[in-house]
Amino acid sequence: MESKKKQSEKDRLDRIIAEARRKREQGYREQALKIFPWVCARCGREFSGKKLRELTVHHKDHNHDNNPPDGSNWELMCLYCHDNEHSRHLDQEWYEDETPGGEEETPSKYKPFADLASLLKDKK
Ligand SMILES: [Zn+2]
Ligand SMILES: [Zn+2]
Repeated sequence: MESKKKQSEKDRLDRIIAEARRKREQGYREQALKIFPWVCARCGREFSGKKLRELTVHHKDHNHDNNPPDGSNWELMCLYCHDNEHSRHLDQEWYEDETPGGEEETPSKYKPFADLASLLKDKK
């Protein structure tokens, strides 16, 4: 069927894009791990070996595309603190962030709180 073929082509493209994004994320994570000590910037827990996958890169301005090589936009945070940080800001960066443990990426860019977040920002 024609439409089915289109769909699988789209899937293929989606996969390529997801793959490219993952590579980029691995790139800045590696870089961040080179620059910073392996310690959560919030709770101060130290990480090494297998545990290191629980240490994630947070973008201070919440912009994944802003990756200065000197690390000025990055902070290393454990999963818990990172989660906390983002539930405060109600933004979505965290959900597109690294997927430790090699789970597949989240299915879509669903942003349930996008409007809410902008409302809250206006209020401040
Ligand atoms: Zn922490
Ligand atoms: Zn973050």
